Amino acid sequence: MGGIMSEAAWLTDDHRAFGATVRKFLDQDYEPHRDRWTQDRLVPHAFWEKAGALGVLGASIPVEYGGSGLPRTFDLVTYMEQGRIGDTGWGITVHGIVQHYVLAFATEEQKRAWLPKLTSGEWVGAIAMTEPGTGSDLQAVRTTAVRDGNGYRLNGRKTFISNAANADFVIVVAKTDPSKGAKGISLIALETRGADGFERGRKLDKIGMDRQDTMELGFDDVRVPRMSLMGEEEGRGFYQLMGQLPWERLTISVGALAAARCALDCTLDYVKNRKAFGQRLMDYQNTRFKLAEAKSEIEIFAAFVDRMVDELEAGTLTAERAAMGKWWGTEMQGRIVDACLQLHGGYGYMNEYRIAELYRDARVQRIYGGTNEIMRELIARSLDRD
Ligand SMILES: Cc1cc2nc3c(=O)[nH]c(=O)nc-3n(C[C@H](O)[C@H](O)[C@H](O)COP(=O)(O)OP(=O)(O)OC[C@H]3O[C@@H](n4cnc5c(N)ncnc54)[C@H](O)[C@@H]3O)c2cc1C
Repeated sequence: MGGIMSEAAWLTDDHRAFGATVRKFLDQDYEPHRDRWTQDRLVPHAFWEKAGALGVLGASIPVEYGGSGLPRTFDLVTYMEQGRIGDTGWGITVHGIVQHYVLAFATEEQKRAWLPKLTSGEWVGAIAMTEPGTGSDLQAVRTTAVRDGNGYRLNGRKTFISNAANADFVIVVAKTDPSKGAKGISLIALETRGADGFERGRKLDKIGMDRQDTMELGFDDVRVPRMSLMGEEEGRGFYQLMGQLPWERLTISVGALAAARCALDCTLDYVKNRKAFGQRLMDYQNTRFKLAEAKSEIEIFAAFVDRMVDELEAGTLTAERAAMGKWWGTEMQGRIVDACLQLHGGYGYMNEYRIAELYRDARVQRIYGGTNEIMRELIARSLDRD
C-alpha cells in the first residue's frame, strides 16, 4: 500500500486485502469518470450505491445493522486509498462520521431504521453544523428545532455542507433550547426525501474539491417526528459533537498524509522524466533536497498517525492529540504540495496535472474540521490545565 513509503504499522493482511478491493473499485469505477464528475461537480448517487454493495460503506458498522463489523482502521484504509488517487470529491469521510454518530448516540430503534440504509448506499449522509453567521463558534448556531406536537419544527440556514446535493440523511445541529447555549444544542436527523420546507442551495463555487457537492441548506418550518432527535435526551448535541471530533481530525490527518504521498509520487515521476539544461530535473540538488525533505516529513508524520491510530483503538485518543495531528499534518501537506508544484514548473499550474488539483484541494484542510487556529487553541487549553 505504501509504494516508496513505509507501510502503516497497524496494517494486517486483512487490511491489505480490503485495501486491494477498494483500490480496484476506485481504479475501475471512479477514475474513468473523474473528468465528467469534475464538470458536474458531483459524484453521482449511483457510485455510492456501488460502494455500499461492495461493503466499503459498512466496513466498521456492526453486522446487525448491515455492515461487516470490522475495526474502524478498515475505514482508514479506504481513506488512504482515496488519497492515493488524489481524490477529495467523494465525501466518504463525512458519510462515515454520520454513520458513527448514529452508532454512538442513537437509540436502538433509530440505529435499526437508519444504519442499514447508510451502509447499503441507499442513503448518503451529511452533517450540518456551520451557518452563514457562525462556524468556529459552534455554540452560537441559530438554527432551531422547536417542539411541535409529537415532533419538532426546524428553522434555519446552514452553509458549506459537504455531500449536500446527494444527501438523503442530514444530521442538523440545532438549538432545542436557545436560552441554554451549548446545553441547548441537539442533533436532529432529517430524512430529506419529501421533506417540505427543506431546500438545497446552489453548488458552491470553490477553489478546489471540484467533485464535492458542497452547498447551502435551508430549513423553513420543516416538520420532523420526535424520533428525529438523536438519542433519548435533548441538549446532548454539543457533547455528542465533541465526542466524535477526534475521529474526524484523525481522518483529516490520514487524508493529509495520503495527499502528501500522492504529491511526492507524481512529482518523482515528473522530475525523473523532464529534462532541463541537458539533465533530468531529478539530478539537480535543489530537486533532490526538496524531495528528500518531503519524504522525511511524510515518514515522520506517518509515525505520529500510527500512534494516533493505536490510541484510537485503545480508546485513549484525546481531543488535543487529534488536534496536533490535524494542524501539523495539514500544514505539512500544504508545504509539500507547494514544493512539488514548483518542481513541475508551468505544468504544475495546469489543471491537467494532478499536482494542480492536489495544490487546490490542500488549502481547505487547514480550515474545515475546526480551523488550525482552533486546533492550537485546544492544545493550548490542555497546557493550561496541566
Ligand atoms: C469545502 C468545505 C467543506 C465543509 N464541509 C462542512 C460540512 O460538511 N459540515 C459543516 O458543518 N461545515 C463544513 N464546513 C465548514 C467549516 O467547518 C468551517 O468553514 C470552519 O469550521 C470555519 O468556520 P467559518 O468558515 O465560519 O470561519 P470563522 O469561524 O468565521 O473563522 C474565521 C477565521 O477566524 C479564526 N478564528 C475564529 N475563532 C477564533 C479563535 N477563537 N481564536 C483564533 N482564531 C479564531 C479562524 O481560525 C479563521 O481563520 C466546510 C467548509 C468548507 C470550506
